[in-house]
Amino acid sequence: MICCPVCGSTGIYLVAGGYTGMLYRCKQCGYEGAFVIEEDQGPEEGAGDVTTEQGKDKVGSS
Ligand SMILES: [Zn+2]
Repeated sequence: MICCPVCGSTGIYLVAGGYTGMLYRCKQCGYEGAFVIEEDQGPEEGAGDVTTEQGKDKVGSS
C-alpha cells in the first residue's frame, strides 16, 4: 500500500518505472514524483502490552 506524501491519499498509482526511476501520480491532489509513503503493515494492537499491576503499591491509610 502506498500513500501520497502530499495529501496522504492511497489513490496514488505508478505511472512509470524503470531505469529512470519510479514515477507516481496522485489522482487526489495531482502530485507527481518518485517519493511515496509506503505502508506495509496493517493495524496491529495489543502486542507486547504487559499486564499493568496497579494497586500493588497500595498505601494502607485508614
Ligand atoms: Zn495526493
